[in-house]
Amino acid sequence: MTDFDFDLFVIGAGSGGIRAARVSAALGARVAIAEARYLGGTCVNAGCIPKKLLVYASHYAEEFRNAAGYGWQGREAVFDWRTFLKNKNNEIKRLNSIYKKLLDDSQVTVYKGKATLLDAHTVQVNGRRLRARHILVATGGWPTRPDLPGQERLLSSNEFFHLERLPERVVIIGGGYIAVEFACILHGLGVATTLLYRGELFLRGFDREMRAFLAAQLRRKGIKLLFNTRVERIRKHDDHYRVDSPDTDTLAAGVVVCATGRHPNTAGLGLEKIGVELEDNGAVIVDSGYRSSAPSIYAIGDVTDKLNLTPVAIAEGTELAQRLFGAQPVTPVSYDETPTCIFSQPELATVGLTEEEARRKHTAIHVYRSCFTPLKHTLTGSGEQTLIKLIVERDTDKVVGAHIVGADAGEIIQGIAIAIRAGTTKAIFDSTTGIHPTTAEEFVTLRAPAE
Ligand code: NDP
Repeated sequence: MTDFDFDLFVIGAGSGGIRAARVSAALGARVAIAEARYLGGTCVNAGCIPKKLLVYASHYAEEFRNAAGYGWQGREAVFDWRTFLKNKNNEIKRLNSIYKKLLDDSQVTVYKGKATLLDAHTVQVNGRRLRARHILVATGGWPTRPDLPGQERLLSSNEFFHLERLPERVVIIGGGYIAVEFACILHGLGVATTLLYRGELFLRGFDREMRAFLAAQLRRKGIKLLFNTRVERIRKHDDHYRVDSPDTDTLAAGVVVCATGRHPNTAGLGLEKIGVELEDNGAVIVDSGYRSSAPSIYAIGDVTDKLNLTPVAIAEGTELAQRLFGAQPVTPVSYDETPTCIFSQPELATVGLTEEEARRKHTAIHVYRSCFTPLKHTLTGSGEQTLIKLIVERDTDKVVGAHIVGADAGEIIQGIAIAIRAGTTKAIFDSTTGIHPTTAEEFVTLRAPAE
């Protein structure tokens, strides 16, 4: 077939789309990518990267306080939001241009504009019709607003990153990754922070003990966590907002943030018209090779609503490019034992099964845990504690889950995840020499199971 302009047309230049485009081009394919908003997608522009920069920014206040225990004295430092915003925006601009250069250097044609599908091989962007042998939908997700009166007054994560000034008080609705990370960031920056969650304990799906431990740590710092608390409506009152709830007193705040999940970004692409099947929430339904119900159309990343994490989208993008243009067979992405970290303060990181899942899946397990004051905090008086937990299948001695709430939890769990994927036993953990004095060494010095 020679009437195609491209072998692959990618819609959406986020983490997954860019990776698929670049690997495909490196494999010799003629590739184009269309992006309506910003190169790098949510991760670079309104997600992981600006969020982590904010986490760093917000940690300093605590570090300055902690420094007193180590003998540091002096005037209190003052945080300037505008300086942070300017520096953060510059860094993101730098990353946008790096992505542009990577695509150019890979000979990928970049279209700036919203692409829509006209048929199973034709895309329209900026009034141009382009034909491609394969089309990849990698349009990611978008914040979901709760359906309640006054919802238009809520800020989602998208707008949060561009707030003009920090409020004195904030209310955050939700109990997932974003709600908890934002609560810690804002509290760290000195904003009186209340998190409202409709369930009995936030971070549903994570290990229950770790969730409860993190909640206790956050409350001890002064973050107000209200669980079993629904929101009825948001009202504007003078220069602030009021959040009404049937479960607690009305709360006042300068900003009300909703972090109530994200949905696949498929509206207006024209997918249904050309026979691509979608889930009720708009997710593109794909088979194990990322192929949709229309054979020339594929989808990867958050738009398929499987495991909505940047490294997963990148892995899927690589795999799809290899499937389409590389040598076969291809190693499929493994969704098991995917490590993840909530960048709360302290962080919660995890890999493998929770204790609850392990009890359901295995007839007998051992649970090892250690709760301690990290060495650093013996002099700070902060009261911060760390909890680590290892879940082991008793009959095989295999480590099936590892969890930690503590400083640098994400950095620690990344290494443990490799061991768990390799099928490591508890005996191997025990025979591994620790690095002293670290928090990570606790994982190799857990001697007796908790029960
Ligand atoms: P999550 O799906 O993690 O959490 C959504 C939260 O909002 C849940 O607590 C949910 O409650 C609650 N909720 C949903 N609808 C309503 C409603 N109508 N009213 C009140 N509460 C509601 O979504 P996030 O927005 O926090 O994050 C989106 C995704 O982005 C994450 O799932 C993750 O995949 C990714 N992400 C990853 C990060 C990381 O890796 N560090 C950081 C940030 C995001 P309930 O539990 O009852 O359903």
